[in-house]
Amino acid sequence: MRSSLVPVSSPAGPRAVPRPTAPTGSAAASPESAGPLDVLGVPDLVNLDYAATAPCARVAADAVAELLPWYGSVHRGAGALSQRSTLAYERARQTVGDFLGTRADDEVIFTRNTTDALNLLARAVPAGTTVVTFGGEHHANLLPWPNTVRLPVPDSPAAAIRALSEALRELRRDTDRAAPILVTVTGASNVTGERWPVTELAAVAHRYGARIAVDAAQLAPHAPVDISESEIDYVAVSGHKLYAPFGTGVLAGRADWLDAAPPYLFGGGATLGVGTATNDVRWADGPGRHEAGTPNLLGAVALAAVCTALSEADRTELHTREQELLARLRTGLNALPGIVELRTFHADAPRVGIVSFVVAGRDSAEVAADLARGHGIGLRDGLFCAHPLARRLLAEAAARSGRSDLPPTALRASIGLGSTAAHVDRLLDALADLR
Ligand code: PLP
Repeated sequence: MRSSLVPVSSPAGPRAVPRPTAPTGSAAASPESAGPLDVLGVPDLVNLDYAATAPCARVAADAVAELLPWYGSVHRGAGALSQRSTLAYERARQTVGDFLGTRADDEVIFTRNTTDALNLLARAVPAGTTVVTFGGEHHANLLPWPNTVRLPVPDSPAAAIRALSEALRELRRDTDRAAPILVTVTGASNVTGERWPVTELAAVAHRYGARIAVDAAQLAPHAPVDISESEIDYVAVSGHKLYAPFGTGVLAGRADWLDAAPPYLFGGGATLGVGTATNDVRWADGPGRHEAGTPNLLGAVALAAVCTALSEADRTELHTREQELLARLRTGLNALPGIVELRTFHADAPRVGIVSFVVAGRDSAEVAADLARGHGIGLRDGLFCAHPLARRLLAEAAARSGRSDLPPTALRASIGLGSTAAHVDRLLDALADLR
């Protein structure tokens, strides 16, 4: 098995001819065959675990490789390396902000990942903020919030809009209009891939004088996210799910709460000046306030490179291709006896390339291990850091299928830019063999 850094596929489809191995120490393959959205990987392995961590995009690896000789301190030096590194970091901020559709007065703060971004926002909300969310969220959007109202998981996008509207009407009956409320929802579920109606939820939130944050960890890799167009106040994403696995995430959105909040981290870079008295500190405004310490330049630059490549790509074509693969996967799974899909909404509700399912009578961890060892297929098993939702959907799947032998955890297959019909078929064949 080769394990060099070579693109395994491009969005244009499977390659008939094996690609050349990249020169040692470089992520690049031959330039004439390079596609901007190629992803790196190991040719013989089938990666169906994009929702956990996507493979590295060629453009991300190339951007890092190009910058490495110039790597220097950000915001901290007069030398050429430092100047160039600072420029690259701030350009990356601009590019990522543009990709997410930020407004001129929004802040774009680099974090470690979505979890970090949502924790930052949770610390920044004004004292006394009521946070409204749904029980189907990933733990990263379920656990950080103070003073939370958790709404039951709705059974359709329309029910989500109704439930939020009723909850906010109730809350406003008891609180004055100026009391801060933050609604926080996922853009796409990491368990089912189902898309949430974030634009409509934003409109409901604003009608009641609330703000809305969208956890776009799973949405942004699959669909454009434009926070000014959708009137979303805050958005959080992870670089490693966006084909830029160098340890960067982003929180972007309204500056006022962020500038008024205590710094997320205390230290160098977040201050304008520090005196000798223990409390004599003038904290910076802007992104620097929450980015104390030396920032992750390579992560920011890698993420910006992917954002540029995606912005220049035909997103409609990418969407169509992904939906075709997803339909192939779901149709194939549903045709296999004993396989039951997990879903919150109707089977036809819009979703990104994620499917969770169980194999009746088979332990999910064992199935995942068999697929890995016997077939070179990597997918995820468990409850996907969304325990309340996954447990509920497992119970519903048992009721819907009438089977009493469903396991207590599930399997999840997720696809993205490097996925091909051959990958999907290999999973379906392997599952058929298992039976
Ligand atoms: N939100 C959703 C919907 C996710 O799927 C994940 C991770 O799987 C997260 C948040 C947390 O992302 P990270 O682990 O990159 O912080």
